[in-house]
Amino acid sequence: MFHRVLVANRGEIALRVIRACREMGIDTVAVHSKADEDAAYLDFADDRICIGPGPSAQSYLSIPGIISAAEVTDADAVHPGYGFLSENAEFARTCKEHGIAFIGPDAETMSRLGDKASARELAMEAKVPTVPGSPGLIEDPNDAVAIAEKIGYPVLIKATAGGGGRGMRVASSKISLMSAIHQARTEAEQAFGEGGVYLEKYLERPRHVEVQIMADNFGNVIHLGERECSVQRRHQKLVEEAPSPALDTSMRKAIGRAAVKMAKAAKYSGAGTVEFLVAGKEFYFIEVNCRIQVEHPVTELVAGIDLVKEQIRVAAGQKLSRDQRNVKFTGHAIEARINAEDPARDFRPSPGLITKYIAPGGPGVRIDSHVYAGYRVPPNYDSLVAKLIVYADTREEALDRMSRALDEYKIEGIKTTIPIHQEIVRNAFFRRGDYDTGFLEEFFSV
Ligand code: ADP
Repeated sequence: MFHRVLVANRGEIALRVIRACREMGIDTVAVHSKADEDAAYLDFADDRICIGPGPSAQSYLSIPGIISAAEVTDADAVHPGYGFLSENAEFARTCKEHGIAFIGPDAETMSRLGDKASARELAMEAKVPTVPGSPGLIEDPNDAVAIAEKIGYPVLIKATAGGGGRGMRVASSKISLMSAIHQARTEAEQAFGEGGVYLEKYLERPRHVEVQIMADNFGNVIHLGERECSVQRRHQKLVEEAPSPALDTSMRKAIGRAAVKMAKAAKYSGAGTVEFLVAGKEFYFIEVNCRIQVEHPVTELVAGIDLVKEQIRVAAGQKLSRDQRNVKFTGHAIEARINAEDPARDFRPSPGLITKYIAPGGPGVRIDSHVYAGYRVPPNYDSLVAKLIVYADTREEALDRMSRALDEYKIEGIKTTIPIHQEIVRNAFFRRGDYDTGFLEEFFSV
């Protein structure tokens, strides 16, 4: 087992990893930028190191900075969390070259899957259903027109390097397709330094359902069930739940099997997520995320597993702690992302000093958060301040518990997404499980 893990991230996920390591008896090193130096969670790590003088996200994105930090603190492994360098194949490779274990899949797998068009090709080879569209990247816009005419408009142009809902453009005619290709390319070049795009049929209001997978370095792959993530604004998730109200038993089995097939085809190891869109009784692969996800706690609660510990064990060369037959699901879990944003003002970021903070508690309530009264949310990073996760025997009870917990949650000094979560959890369609990726826009005009 590792002796010391460097946590190459910040905020709630850094704390989540520190907690897992502490329970496993592994020392931790927390890295931080100057802007984060007063964050109290840094005290929970055994050691800390400043990796950047400036407040920008650059500190957490510097490969030389993080590798030097691991070397000077004598860390033998790095946990990348999510975001920042977590899906950067060059970072994974550099860690390995320096004799530091990267807690995640290997660099080759990551670069194959990180490129969305190549992941899609792999899914096709593995006979995992994909959204109808282009076989690979679009070289000639006229090919895109031919495909669009065959599968029918509207279509979606997606950046192969895309992420976080960026680099996507819908087109409903030949003319708009030409400009969509141009715009998506330009946006992707600027945002990701890579302008490759591909085409998918634009599904009308699908559901987003993803499957958690876990694999070791001995070829064993299991899935830990699905998460429903259709409550999205601008293609970004706001609420997640497990299990998905959209699946029946046979679809659930089929989607789990498809995810495992995909992971095996990619020779995956570690924790990963295979994302699908569900339309009626059909599901289609869209992408793989090669890291722990923000929404992993809902899976932990229904499957009774600590995904971060399992990631660490697998990276240290151990076999999976269970096989598929021993994965049992019970109850229902829901997560609400509490962001420092003002939902009444188009989710404008609302950084600043938290003047009052009272977290909910009681049965079935879990909070993953690094904030407290007196903490100043910096303007430089992701706006996630807390994840409120509830668990109960049934979905109905989980909804009532979420509603109760949201009412208890008091965060003052900054605006948060708590009010919109209160409305969502009381919405009749949401309560019936009758919602899709168009839900937020329809009911809340976001
Ligand atoms: P990103 O990597 O930027 O998160 P994804 O491919 O995961 O992009 O898609 C994010 C979201 O965009 C999906 O959850 C869904 O809401 C929407 N989306 C993606 N592909 C399609 C499609 N073909 N049709 C309709 N909506 C889509």
